Amino acid sequence: MEKCSIVVPCYNEEEALPLFYEAVQQVIGEMTTLEFEYILVDDGSRDQTLSIMKSLAQKDPAVHYLALSRNFGKEAAMLAGMEESTGDYVVIMDADLQDPPELLPQMYQAVKEEEYDCAATRRVDRKGEPIIRSFFARRFYRLMNRIAKLNMMDGARDYRFMKRVMVDAILSMKEYHRFSKGIFGWVGFQTKWIDFENRKRVAGRTKWSFFSLFRYSIEGMVAFTTAPLEWASFVGLFFCVLALIAVVFLFVRALLFGDPVMGWPSLACMITFFSGLQLFVSGIIGMYLAKAYNEIKARPVYIVREKG
Ligand code: UDP
Ligand code: MG
Repeated sequence: MEKCSIVVPCYNEEEALPLFYEAVQQVIGEMTTLEFEYILVDDGSRDQTLSIMKSLAQKDPAVHYLALSRNFGKEAAMLAGMEESTGDYVVIMDADLQDPPELLPQMYQAVKEEEYDCAATRRVDRKGEPIIRSFFARRFYRLMNRIAKLNMMDGARDYRFMKRVMVDAILSMKEYHRFSKGIFGWVGFQTKWIDFENRKRVAGRTKWSFFSLFRYSIEGMVAFTTAPLEWASFVGLFFCVLALIAVVFLFVRALLFGDPVMGWPSLACMITFFSGLQLFVSGIIGMYLAKAYNEIKARPVYIVREKG
């Protein structure tokens, strides 16, 4: 019988995890043609998440857990879970039931019978989310699709049902700065998109603030496109040309009208503007340099403390 691994990154999910397990058990109980295993990854939780995992593992031999040595972030937790998985299929699911388990049979059917390599899900609405966040999220996806030439779906979740080939492709990407939404798109494969309506988490709180999402989107951009570096050189070129025009203009004006001392305020404005611009551009370059530095160090993406 084919096996499917359910990978669940968990960070402070003591309230949600038991509900998650029950809900998933109900759905997979009816999927009799597949054998299931759970890979629960404790991403350095500070609550009782790990002991809940242990008690689930004691009751159910299909449950395995992996405790990371500290909080490494969801990307690292997902990677750890995928590396540990042994199934012919791998599903990644959040522990908070925002990824509806009812979709599993449909997702399985897509990869089993419809010649897809992967079934992915997306939320068709962003109900219950602050408007400003939705607005920026949409802009981000538009921008990324345009500049990174990645096929990233707006509203796509990490909730996916993948064949082993695709999982192995993802695992072959060894980068330290992992941006899964980009990685999933980058490896390619045939993906079926399944829509569902956004739902609230069953318990606990989201770990994302607006600011952390903003940083995450910058990470994603740096990880998947070098377009900002090109923009920087274009901006530089643009201002060079502008400066040349200004020189000619000032020269001609001085010839025609003499050179009374003027223009101190405009000079001050220009100096501030251009120093700002230069710092901004060095900042962009610095960001890429910093990422490159981290990649070269080649530190492990996560460290396992305990396994069971
Ligand atoms: N998560 C994790 N490590 C982290 C943050 C989150 O493993 O540092 C897990 C979390 O437990 C949940 C999933 O990632 O299962 C999604 O997190 P969350 O619900 O906070 O994100 P949202 O659904 O709001 O995007
Ligand atoms: Mg959530």
